[in-house]
Amino acid sequence: MAAKRRFQTVKGMHDLGGWMSLAFAFVEGKAREVFSLYGYDEVRTPIVEETELFVRGVGEGSEIVGKQMYTFDDKKGRSLTLRPEGTAPIARAYLQNDWPSSGPQPVKVFYMGPYFRYERPQEGRYRQFHQIGAELIGDPGPYSDVELLVMLLRFLEELGFEDLEVGLNSVGDPECRRRYSQRLREFLEPYRDELGADSRRRLETNPLRILDTKAPRERELLEGAPRLRDELGDPARDHFQVVCDELDRFGVDFEIDDGLVRGLDYYTRTVFEITSTALGAQNAILGGGRYDGLIAELGGPSVPGIGFAIGQDRLVDLVLKIPGARKRLNAEDHRRRPVCVIPIGGSYRRHGLVLAQELRAAGIPAICEFDSLRPLKARLKQAARYDCRWVVLFGEDEEKSGEVVLRDFSDRTQETIPRDGFAAAVAAKIRPDEQP
Ligand code: AMP
Repeated sequence: MAAKRRFQTVKGMHDLGGWMSLAFAFVEGKAREVFSLYGYDEVRTPIVEETELFVRGVGEGSEIVGKQMYTFDDKKGRSLTLRPEGTAPIARAYLQNDWPSSGPQPVKVFYMGPYFRYERPQEGRYRQFHQIGAELIGDPGPYSDVELLVMLLRFLEELGFEDLEVGLNSVGDPECRRRYSQRLREFLEPYRDELGADSRRRLETNPLRILDTKAPRERELLEGAPRLRDELGDPARDHFQVVCDELDRFGVDFEIDDGLVRGLDYYTRTVFEITSTALGAQNAILGGGRYDGLIAELGGPSVPGIGFAIGQDRLVDLVLKIPGARKRLNAEDHRRRPVCVIPIGGSYRRHGLVLAQELRAAGIPAICEFDSLRPLKARLKQAARYDCRWVVLFGEDEEKSGEVVLRDFSDRTQETIPRDGFAAAVAAKIRPDEQP
């Protein structure tokens, strides 16, 4: 008989447990905390959308739509796609649920969850990855750009980051882009043969995308290229100036990066990216920008928007690299370390269950080690594996004396405390700062 096959996760997709899931929850908690301070509400959209939403919303010329979507037909032959990004679904939800008439304007929302792109997996690049994003829809002005960026940086600071590289640029309005694309095409045309296949194709479809090439020869060529910034019309130029001035005023350290155009077609004016040299080749932690034409592209009125999407997997990798991160995660999550109740002797297992329940009722996480046939030493080891700091022991002696034994692993001391009301006494020890 053939051996039963052991299943594996799909290529490019991962299980998250241990420190990873603790760090995931930590950054999600901070995102909720900080974004709420700025008046943002959380929304959850479905993981699957109509394929056409992304074709129209992200753009046919984009890498995502061209190569990376998980697209399939459902049983009725409708073409559906696992969401590759978060902005188009939010724009769809904005229109479908008529958010502008059901709530305040501009609309401010944030989201988090899994996203899917069929890319070649490597460190920091997965086929199922996670994003935390925010969108501000309904204000065309530069102060919204500034506030959104300040909120984003506040979030990153709260996570413990200090010196991240903030790149900023303006990709202008569609007319400036058209004008500039033409100039860039004219500039690159004589060097056509020196361009790689991708860039040659982009020369026809979307020359702007050549600006973020990594190929050394192409980078060299681009040094002499005209700058998009010089082609901006007055409104786009003024907008960008206010954004830069105000960020300066807030003490934000950023660099204007002429090569920053972002991969998606819907961006207008302000675009930004934050990178970290502590990551490998895939060093972008997040990207975002203004998308004043998107809602109209999806059949809605002409409503401007701006937003960002943080790569949560990369963010978490970095959070775990910050010195002292693990200690901090444990401290932030001190409720997680349980107390282990060890009943001594088979007939005391019932008592163990009751004692653990009393601890939980007092708000203390507790586990019970029921395996009374094992030696006490093995059971204490088990408690250590659960990362317990305290152990409660209870057996025949304790029943007689009406006490429980409380052992502290951190300094190897132990004491007896009265059985009645023991949970409150344990709570006072574990969280002295939270007692009434
Ligand atoms: P984008 O929507 O392409 O602007 O991506 C925003 C952020 O999501 C990037 O800066 C990355 O941090 C992250 N990201 C995008 N694609 C992937 C992927 N395949 N795997 C992991 N993270 C990703």
